[in-house]
Amino acid sequence: MFQNLYMTKKLGRNELCWCGSGIKYKRCHIDREHQPLVNPYEIEKEQKKFFTKKYCIFPDKSKCDGQIVRAHTIQRNGSLDKIAYDGHVYQLKPSLTDLFKTNGEAAPKSVGIRNATTFTGFCNFHDSEIFKPLERVSFLGNDEQCFLLAFRAVARELYTKRAAIQSIPLWRESDRGKDILSQQIIQEICSAYKKGTERGLATLESHFNEYVEKFIAKDFREIRFLIILLKNVPEIMFSGGFYPEFNFKAELLQDLSDLTKKSDLLTHSSFASDEGGAIVYSWLSSSDNTCRNFVESLLELNANDLPNAVVRLSFEQSENVAISPLWWDSMESAKQEAIINRFTYAGHPLVGRSPECLASDGLNYVNWNIQDIKVKMI
Ligand SMILES: [Zn+2]
Ligand SMILES: [Zn+2]
Repeated sequence: MFQNLYMTKKLGRNELCWCGSGIKYKRCHIDREHQPLVNPYEIEKEQKKFFTKKYCIFPDKSKCDGQIVRAHTIQRNGSLDKIAYDGHVYQLKPSLTDLFKTNGEAAPKSVGIRNATTFTGFCNFHDSEIFKPLERVSFLGNDEQCFLLAFRAVARELYTKRAAIQSIPLWRESDRGKDILSQQIIQEICSAYKKGTERGLATLESHFNEYVEKFIAKDFREIRFLIILLKNVPEIMFSGGFYPEFNFKAELLQDLSDLTKKSDLLTHSSFASDEGGAIVYSWLSSSDNTCRNFVESLLELNANDLPNAVVRLSFEQSENVAISPLWWDSMESAKQEAIINRFTYAGHPLVGRSPECLASDGLNYVNWNIQDIKVKMI
């Protein structure tokens, strides 16, 4: 892996640097070990700028009104109010600073509902116009609403992934003042991360474009969904998109390492409705192969495990989860730990996902009262 080790010693000043930056050695890694160490908190502060960048993600900018808003990813602004305590929810979204305090494990953090689960990726016009049928009308679970839930989840994933790619060069700078082997390890990790993220980004851009095309054509027929309607408000609310790898029966659905294939994308959303709450899984027919099987395996679970499976999946696959502080604080510590472990190590780049990642862990996290289940798979 570190075959460059020898090279660094005899690289000419004007040769391209071993790290792959495309810059001459004399302007890149030469004498880097003698430079002052970089403060990781500084990097984190810089990195945050990419994740709070203000721009409208909608490709056709002709109608953008220029003002970028904090776009909510959880349906209807009132949703988070219902699980907030003193205007705050918990999120397992650790910053580097937090991770140092907790030895690398994620810990719930109190976040004001204005800042929780929002992103600055839509202008005022597009945010309000596109999502009107979600925000201004009760949730009926029609094609358009399920489409828009998916569209918003994919838009946010894309926004986040773009920011992740843009912040890699920052991490490449974090090897200043370190010995040459450490420099090489850091650069190798950054390269591997970049390769994986770039591939993920290309796939996501292509999914997003598909949603945009269908949105512009107002063609919502290709949307597929599973809606779980609850009589109660769900204690966790989330919005996200992911590539299902294993189903609830631990069967492999798609090989995410196959670079020649565009992975199938599933989205999931949870929010409060007029009657209680709803969990929605939605996807486009082009992702049928994987998503149908995945959702069917969820439906095959017994009624007692179904709500817990939803909880397991949400922490396994999304970092955009708002948690009711009252629910979390009253939960037994074994359950809290199970969730934190799941969140911290899910799909870890060095470990990967276990086929059994969604199988029952025997823990009862929630007592939801399911009112109805609606499915549209063709
Ligand atoms: Zn270099
Ligand atoms: Zn716009």
